[in-house]
Amino acid sequence: MAAAAGVKTSPDFPVPETMKAWVLGNPGELILVRKPVPVPRRAEVLLRIDAVAICATDLEVIDHGSPALIQGGMPFNKNFTPGHEYMGTVVALGPGVDEYRIGQRVTVEIHAGCGQCKRCREGMYTSCFNYGLNHGDVDKGHRANGFTTDGGFCEYQVNNINTLVAIADGMSDEEATLVVTAGTAMYGLTELGGLVAGESVAVSGPGPIGLLGVAVAKALGPSPVILTGTRDNRLKIGRELGADHVVNIRNEDAVEAVRRLNGGKGVDYVIECSGAPNAVNDAIHMVNRGGKVCLAAFPHQETPVDVAHIVRNNIYLYGIRGEGKSATHRAEAFMAQKRFDATKIHTHTFALDDLPTAIRYAKDRVDDAIKVVVKARGVAAQRVAAE
Ligand SMILES: [Zn+2]
Ligand SMILES: [Zn+2]
Repeated sequence: MAAAAGVKTSPDFPVPETMKAWVLGNPGELILVRKPVPVPRRAEVLLRIDAVAICATDLEVIDHGSPALIQGGMPFNKNFTPGHEYMGTVVALGPGVDEYRIGQRVTVEIHAGCGQCKRCREGMYTSCFNYGLNHGDVDKGHRANGFTTDGGFCEYQVNNINTLVAIADGMSDEEATLVVTAGTAMYGLTELGGLVAGESVAVSGPGPIGLLGVAVAKALGPSPVILTGTRDNRLKIGRELGADHVVNIRNEDAVEAVRRLNGGKGVDYVIECSGAPNAVNDAIHMVNRGGKVCLAAFPHQETPVDVAHIVRNNIYLYGIRGEGKSATHRAEAFMAQKRFDATKIHTHTFALDDLPTAIRYAKDRVDDAIKVVVKARGVAAQRVAAE
């Protein structure tokens, strides 16, 4: 890291000048390069990245570009480092930072937002009006790790202090990478109405957000929690994370099953995490009159929806974007209190050098992969071992 006025470091955590970093070339192409270690500015710290999880949105960015936005355009061939679900150790403090200390372990949420637009001021920084405006003469200071600024598939990264979440000592690096996923589920529930004790919840789609959606919902005290999906091994994990009932929709109709499992009335809340083409329509029929549906996944094509049913039944539909309103802090609190074991969805760990292999496992669900984590240290690189 280059020396800079007001930046504090410690001999206990020496920071090199350059680091390994993966950058996005053409669509689907990742290249391992060396980059200068970035320097923290005001309200920022430098993290040594200890673990980073691969998310479906990373795969989207690497193959298709969106929703990453670099210098106002697609992220290809711009020396851009993707990756957003990372955790690490604070190794340098920007000028004026005393909220965190060097050596502290933290996990990070993605969006710092601009801090000055209407949505940021409301705490909805994941819906910042100035997304991607952090370059040239429209620099609003917006940051979203791995989307509008460099992310975590590297050894060090700067982060705004507002994106840091202190983690409990007992929490492993791998578990800490899952806080933001649990935080996204928590944000969905916060938007639906916060505490759900005694109410009924259905979650569709047992991917990472759906599974931790079950876990976070269960910790908020609803009854029952119902999980629907197509893969028995994932439904089994959902049960371990707190689902009272699981429904394999290959064997029975999702809507009928959810209604039957809650006395024929449908549930108060549905969290849609599958992105399946019929999922929104199913969700509005699973929910009861006056109930709420949170859309946390999106299908790639437009989908027909029975609007009349929504209107006649006073159904609330919410899209959520990311992990806003400090939901990651609430999710971390549940995890620190061991209300659920998020590590049940962590299936594989690879060395940072093996990122392309790790991505293949996540994308093709090799060996039933759910959450695949990459670490810069402490994991032998298979590529080297194989040679
Ligand atoms: Zn993610
Ligand atoms: Zn903003």
